[in-house]
Amino acid sequence: MAHAQFGAPTITHITGDLYRGSNGRWHNIILATEDGILIGDTLNTPFATALKAQLEERFPGVPVRYVVYSHSHWDHVEGGAVFADTATFIGHETMLVNMDGRYPHMPGDMIDRNENGTFEPEEFRIPADASPGVCGGRFSERKDADGDGRMTPAEYFSEVHPPDIVYADRMRLTLGGQRVELIHPGRNHGDDMTVLYFPDDGVVFAADFLADALVTESMRSLPSACGPFDGHAMSEWIDSYRAVEALDFEILAPAHGQYYTKQDVVETREYFEYLAAEVSRAMRAGLSLEEMKSELMLEAYADWAQYERLREKNIEAAYRNLTVYR
Ligand SMILES: [Zn+2]
Ligand SMILES: [Zn+2]
Repeated sequence: MAHAQFGAPTITHITGDLYRGSNGRWHNIILATEDGILIGDTLNTPFATALKAQLEERFPGVPVRYVVYSHSHWDHVEGGAVFADTATFIGHETMLVNMDGRYPHMPGDMIDRNENGTFEPEEFRIPADASPGVCGGRFSERKDADGDGRMTPAEYFSEVHPPDIVYADRMRLTLGGQRVELIHPGRNHGDDMTVLYFPDDGVVFAADFLADALVTESMRSLPSACGPFDGHAMSEWIDSYRAVEALDFEILAPAHGQYYTKQDVVETREYFEYLAAEVSRAMRAGLSLEEMKSELMLEAYADWAQYERLREKNIEAAYRNLTVYR
């Protein structure tokens, strides 16, 4: 969701040579070996600039060799240019489609409502008004370089350094003798998602999918469900969760929230399955959307975060999703 915040970076040790860089609410992941550093997500230009200085202090003389992108949404991947002197940039192949000049896949239901190929302020405001603090965002006057009140896709991506190397399904890197696997889990929150898997340390990093921007302490949190689950079939979300569950890992260190376990991923996938099954059953029984909202209480999840705020929204998103994708 929404806009990046510009807190000063903190770097926290996870395990082995892995660290979490954070501005408070957005996190990245850093693999720091003697032979070089890999950064998963650069967040934004002020963050990346300050992070670079901190890394030079903490690991003097060690270059940043790779920047890997979790997906193309601006609030996780701006600022990479500050590492362009030493780094190779890697992302999923669909990132280049999103950056080819057409209106890209967007989070938070920030779609091209008037279908003119550019971003207008109301395209950020309409979903924000419909679901305050959950969907939508803030139009960036700063990125509207020519000041014409709209942002072209090029202006929108002006602070995202494009990937030099892309991959389709899986890619393997080795840095300082350690393996890093990049895995495209399928389409879910975005259409160009990469999960970073560090098999030697049993750690997984992913952004927004698995744990979205509303997740804080616990992953037991109803999803924001903007734009009927970001325009991708719930079955694809579920397959994506299973792709992560198939990895052998102990620690999930996602871009939002705390550190979690595989069991948290399992429970979140089960929530999606339960929601899809409940709404499918209600559709078969001929219930209207309004009837579903009043009758489907999703009781088993009443103690999850965002339950009061998002139960009806989740039902509506599932209804719309299952109506479009069969
Ligand atoms: Zn995103
Ligand atoms: Zn996010």
